[in-house]
Amino acid sequence: MIEKKAHFLIILSAPSGGGKSTILNEVLKQADDIDYSVSYTTRKPRGEEQNGIHYHFVNDEEFQQRIREGDFLEHANVFGKWYGTSISFIKRRLAAGRHVIMDIDVQGAAQIAVTDIPYVKIFILPPSMEVLRDRLIKRNTDTMEEIEKRLQIASREITRICLYDYLVINDELDQAVSEVAAIISAETNRVQRYIAPDLQFMNTGEEHD
Ligand code: 5GP
Repeated sequence: MIEKKAHFLIILSAPSGGGKSTILNEVLKQADDIDYSVSYTTRKPRGEEQNGIHYHFVNDEEFQQRIREGDFLEHANVFGKWYGTSISFIKRRLAAGRHVIMDIDVQGAAQIAVTDIPYVKIFILPPSMEVLRDRLIKRNTDTMEEIEKRLQIASREITRICLYDYLVINDELDQAVSEVAAIISAETNRVQRYIAPDLQFMNTGEEHD
């Protein structure tokens, strides 16, 4: 009898302005078996952001306490503020038979390498640095100085793409969303995601090559 194994983590990273949150929200809308991992951060809420929905907004002290208690699968300092992913939340959702999707930076994604939690890492890239610059300008949330800084960081992040399993170019939104959905669907059917006690050759115990 062949059964599906536990679900997996879907790790999305992209340079700031790369369209990651729009893609992520679309993927979540279209799927009924994926939960969003709400990160902890020490940055302040922006605009309409709500505590517990967009982020868990905490102070430095609480963040450090969570590091000490080992509650982060990964954590990183991004643009001077702390961000971290709760391991207990992820384990609960995976155990409940859900995939968990998360939006984290390249430093955090690099920390998720040696873990018994199955995962797939997807990098989302705008078609060019010029397009990224245009998107950041149109977003109208940063000064030109901040935009230049974000572009510099983006050039550095791009050199880490080799740490990811898949690359999606976000030229046209619908296309990028369906590519991410296709990756998730293909990952669901990897041989390693199945348990088949009668078919020993399927059970190497290896998640990644
Ligand atoms: P923002 O403050 O604009 O929402 O996010 C800034 C950056 O922090 C983005 O690149 C986002 O992917 C990253 N980020 C959000 N949550 C986490 C997290 O839990 N861990 C890590 N490492 N990065 C995160």
